[in-house]
Amino acid sequence: MTQVGIPRGLFYFYQYPLWKTFFNDLGAEVITSSPTSRKTIDHGIENTVDECCLPIKVYFGHVSELIEKQPDYILAPRLISTEMRSYICPKFMGVPDMIRANWPDCPPLIDITVDCSRDTRQLWRDIYRVGGLFNGSKKSILAAYEHGLREMKRMRVWTRQGYSPLEAIELWEKHGEAAAESPDSDICVGVLGHGYSLYDPAISLQLTDKLRQMGCKVVFLESCLREHLEEEAARLPKKMFWTLGRKIVGSALVMDKSPEIDGIVYLACFGCGPDSMVGDIVARKVRHKPFMLVTIDEHSGEGGLVTRLEAFCDMLRRKKVQGFESDLSPYGFHAHSH
Ligand code: SF4
Repeated sequence: MTQVGIPRGLFYFYQYPLWKTFFNDLGAEVITSSPTSRKTIDHGIENTVDECCLPIKVYFGHVSELIEKQPDYILAPRLISTEMRSYICPKFMGVPDMIRANWPDCPPLIDITVDCSRDTRQLWRDIYRVGGLFNGSKKSILAAYEHGLREMKRMRVWTRQGYSPLEAIELWEKHGEAAAESPDSDICVGVLGHGYSLYDPAISLQLTDKLRQMGCKVVFLESCLREHLEEEAARLPKKMFWTLGRKIVGSALVMDKSPEIDGIVYLACFGCGPDSMVGDIVARKVRHKPFMLVTIDEHSGEGGLVTRLEAFCDMLRRKKVQGFESDLSPYGFHAHSH
């Protein structure tokens, strides 16, 4: 059976059910790399230039593992845009070229181009081209892709119910069985960041698990309704043309108004151009909730993160008990004032 390898990084956290279903329906077996470990990060560092952000390095670590497994193909989409007049970070665009330059003898790449910035003609051409690799008829390729889209929507229902995309992927693979129970919590923290860093436990240093262990209910940006966050993001003086950046700013503003949420944490990656701008915009625009920006790279340690999260949670609890918290100014602003 033809094998397609899907690296467990970048778009995996958003689109895995789509591509797994698509290839399975066309008769291929899908294999993935293992969950990110220190070894993955080290292999990624060895195979990328220093200037790359951590998620790209990690992605290359996953590709390196898949190359050792020698599948027939490796899926490495060229993601440019997933919606009209908005774009994904340019680093995604060069992924297939960087892989080929780094591993000239790697298995053939499925470098489907996803560019919906003007229309979807290119995408459909590429879907039929890729489907043709598996000898599918046009009808079966279309059916497989539509089935993939339905499965992706099914996974997103769980993210809207409060599960992280990684948890939703696990639920999707187990057909929705054994949903994790939420532990007791007395404060609620909204978490923001790019999905491939926030939901990869090794990159985020298990930020969400740590918050939960500290007694927080964690709200992910995926649970914000699309129309609400678009409405809030549209209040910016200029349209944010990065799809993920706009989602983060919009969700931050929705969380800022939500009575349920006590504080907001933003996980940013060192070396990320969009994060350096989006993080700053969020820090300036969030006015009603304590906000903390956590920047990580491949050298970040868990100890420092735990200390910052504990201090943040302690401050939220004090604020909740006292009704206000004066003179605690996150990032230059008063957290709360009367
Ligand atoms: S948005 Fe930032 S973290 Fe994501 S790929 Fe681009 S540079 Fe890396």
